[in-house]
Amino acid sequence: MTAKKRILIVGGVAGGASCATRIRRLCEHCEIIIFEMGAYVSFANCGLPYFIGDVIVEEEKLLVATPELFKNRFKIQVCTETEVLSIDRDNKSIVVNDKKSGKNRVESYDSLVLSTGAAAVWPDIKGVDLPGIYALRTIPDSRKIRSALSDIKKAVVMGAGYLGLELAENLVKRGVDVTLLQSSNQIVPMLDKEMASFVEKHITKQGINCRLNAHVTSFDQNQDQRLTLNLSNDEAIITDAVMISVGVKPRIELAENAGLEIGEYGGVRVDEHMQTNDPNIWAVGDMVEVRHVITGKWHLFPLAGPANRQGRIAAGHIVDHEFAGDSAKISYRGVQGTSVCGLFDLTVATTGVNEKQLKATSFTDYEKVYLHPSNHVGYYPGAKPIHIKLIYDSRNGTVLGAQALGESGVARRIDVISAFIQMNATVYDLEEAELCYAPQFGATKDPVNLAGMLAANQLRDNHPLAVWEELMESHVQEADDSEQDDAERLLTLILDDPYKQAQIVDVRTVAEYENKHIPNAINVPLDSLRERLDELSREREVWVVCGVGQRAYNATRILQQNGFKVKNLSGGMQTYNSYLDIQP
Ligand code: FAD
Repeated sequence: MTAKKRILIVGGVAGGASCATRIRRLCEHCEIIIFEMGAYVSFANCGLPYFIGDVIVEEEKLLVATPELFKNRFKIQVCTETEVLSIDRDNKSIVVNDKKSGKNRVESYDSLVLSTGAAAVWPDIKGVDLPGIYALRTIPDSRKIRSALSDIKKAVVMGAGYLGLELAENLVKRGVDVTLLQSSNQIVPMLDKEMASFVEKHITKQGINCRLNAHVTSFDQNQDQRLTLNLSNDEAIITDAVMISVGVKPRIELAENAGLEIGEYGGVRVDEHMQTNDPNIWAVGDMVEVRHVITGKWHLFPLAGPANRQGRIAAGHIVDHEFAGDSAKISYRGVQGTSVCGLFDLTVATTGVNEKQLKATSFTDYEKVYLHPSNHVGYYPGAKPIHIKLIYDSRNGTVLGAQALGESGVARRIDVISAFIQMNATVYDLEEAELCYAPQFGATKDPVNLAGMLAANQLRDNHPLAVWEELMESHVQEADDSEQDDAERLLTLILDDPYKQAQIVDVRTVAEYENKHIPNAINVPLDSLRERLDELSREREVWVVCGVGQRAYNATRILQQNGFKVKNLSGGMQTYNSYLDIQP
């Protein structure tokens, strides 16, 4: 394997750098050149929000590798501040512009890798280019924001995805009064709405003013240099700075102009080896569309892990393609949406599909369980709840997705479930998963096992589940009747129980029940349930509720074995509160 092949890489950060170094490890004799239009290669863009927040203080820490390191360790030439202007596919060459000299030159290739990333979506709003409006993508962007911070007392962050949330948190850490605007009706779009409501409450407690369904129609600059954001509801917000974080779009100009195939979401189409429709060109990272492993649909998934792994896969295929028969060739399996974000001691993580995505595909054969176990056993100091939603295929138990929130141990649980999803596993596999345990790390039944057990019990019909949405629909009707006086309400209750489909039985203690309960729920504490079975209707379903679902599960088993038609409102009052929060 001594033939010297010339491999050019456009873009020198996550996907490009990873591809380049992997090629070198597979092929000592290839010539590898990276072209990067910015001043830095292989920098930690994921660390930029924390550089703004002064969590990362030294800028050099953001430079994961330098051109010198690439040269000395990997024999890879890096041309920074060199923009690739065009691709000539017929002659297998590119035109590059050296920004320092201003000169263009032509470089030929045997193989070309594109990893040009994504650009911030810059909304088409009047005044969006005014000074004081920023987007964070690069080290120079972060420098600009940091140097302006001494004059920023109030800031508006537009967009409540992971990046917007991280920016909001870090600005708060720098003493800035932050308003977060989101055009849709929930923050963290990767989560379902009832799970996102936890996050909204959490960041509101930290002082962030969260505004949903907020549409900016224009920006004005005031005489004092501050900015006014005009909203569609005629409201105006005055602020010192605006951070735009409303999404990213694949940077595909080079690929598009070269006639490479572009998909329906505006990303470059590649096969499982990251090869484009040109056999000599590969594309990786934020610029490509990938298949979602669960929905099978094309998807944009602009995150660092996939970009790095795709770079590695392209490298293996290029070496295989150029030299035939290398065993390093592997295939990309697609994305499954695994992601995590930290927000003021709260971790938010998800994998697989959420319910919104399933509804969008019209797939209805799924079930969900909610649970709120502790990150580790309660007797060991510092136990914190993890709020989990697990979604699975109701026909065979295949795990489809999970969302989790909490202060500790969240990412570990989602990573475990993610690995199971990748192996096409079922909830029966989750209930049997052997996970490590000691008091400070987990429980003998880990939250992952518990999620599997709840779901598997449901599929075995040992643990039927009620549907929260059905309860909430009745609940809204009940609330609508609240104008009635007490006598009328009682009559309505007798003649026309708002929960037509079920009798709600709250099995918590009297004190817990009196503190707050679902309207019209009757209280039969679990420990007295066996003696009070005669008080319950055998005609209608009984829907059992408790604090987080565990006592209600035990009650469900008692009632089921006594001949009742019973269902558990999974996740208990904890989940009820989230559903209440999202009622219109
Ligand atoms: P990039 O890493 O963006 O690299 C593309 C490079 O190509 C750029 O440097 C660009 O200058 C260069 N380029 C483009 N066109 C040309 C051209 N014509 N000629 C030469 N060079 C060109 N992901 C996570 O998974 N977790 C996180 O916590 C996270 N946080 C993030 C925080 C921020 C602030 C940002 C901006 C991104 C974050 N991401 C995170 C996303 C992650 O960084 C990207 O998914 C990943 O970097 C994509 O890799 P890439 O190689 O496709 O593109």
